[in-house]
Amino acid sequence: MNNYFVILAAGKSKRFHKNIVKQFYKYKNKEIVDHSVEKSIQSNLFKKIIIVTNNLNHFKKKKYPKIIKIIKGGKERSDSSLKALKYLKKYNPKNVYIHDAARPNFSKNLLKKITKNLYKNKAVIPVLTSTDSIKYKIKNQIFNLNKNNSFLTQTPQAFRFKELYNVAIKEKTKVSDEATLFINNDYKVKFIPGENKNNKITYLNDIETSKTYFGIGFDIHKLIKNKKLFLGGVKIPFHSGLKGHSDGDVILHAIIDAILGAIRKKDIGTYFPNTKRFKNIRSPKMLKPIIYNLYKNNFSINNLDINLICEQPKVSKYRDKIINSISKLTNLKKDQINLKGKTVEKLGLIGKEKAIACEVIISITKYD
Ligand code: ZN
Repeated sequence: MNNYFVILAAGKSKRFHKNIVKQFYKYKNKEIVDHSVEKSIQSNLFKKIIIVTNNLNHFKKKKYPKIIKIIKGGKERSDSSLKALKYLKKYNPKNVYIHDAARPNFSKNLLKKITKNLYKNKAVIPVLTSTDSIKYKIKNQIFNLNKNNSFLTQTPQAFRFKELYNVAIKEKTKVSDEATLFINNDYKVKFIPGENKNNKITYLNDIETSKTYFGIGFDIHKLIKNKKLFLGGVKIPFHSGLKGHSDGDVILHAIIDAILGAIRKKDIGTYFPNTKRFKNIRSPKMLKPIIYNLYKNNFSINNLDINLICEQPKVSKYRDKIINSISKLTNLKKDQINLKGKTVEKLGLIGKEKAIACEVIISITKYD
């Protein structure tokens, strides 16, 4: 294992944000650069990991293990890459992997595959075929590129150190990746399948397009005789029904409050006060406008988890019907909804079948 990993983190990232250095931006609870640092350490494939940066001070605060070396970068990407190769020469590496810090989402499995292919090849490059059609322009003429013969190259890219060093040191132009150097010098390059998730973060909205929120809802209604019982929009044969200004459907009310909680829009009483207008309203009629506005404002529900707390009726008997009904009301797939029945050991009002309660947790994502 005479492999060295180079993380290029010297970019100015002007397209990302005028005041934020991209590689230090917090993404999935870590700085973008640290995703690559940690995965390369955990892979156990490398003798040393070199971070190339123009923010040496930023890295001074970090407590990296000794395997990590920080060196100063150059003006362009290719300058930084060359600096790393010059720095590494003294270790006499067999292989060097060059990686852009702006790709934090590669898998350790991709590293393994690259390494495996490096036994028989001098350069291994992960690539994707484009799913979009590609056009290109020469002077004022537009041409179609055959996308089946075109590849989008990713990093990490791995090379025999000696060959890469030799071509890099004599290269006069600024190349956008090391594969270009190899290809321009007629070296054979092995393409392996890259990863869709291993996309390059260029713009802030590459990672800030969606935010996920959680909401919690709770409801309880008294059971009284001579009223129909509705749970999750389903009429259920029972000795009593739920008392309330509406039909008392605790499941749908808890879902509404969970949604409003997740999107920080107060509570069910704000939209459905105990006024004449809403007297005896069926709860699906309350849920529908809430759902309509939710989806209209680019939120989507990931999942719903429901605890129905009652001694009777038995949830298992009506689970499918209730989930079916909620699925229709919310436009969710059935496997996004979970319904649990919970008894209370015959304790208190719920245990004596005088009330039914429900709690709901919801996960909601806002997208653009
Ligand atoms: Zn209620």
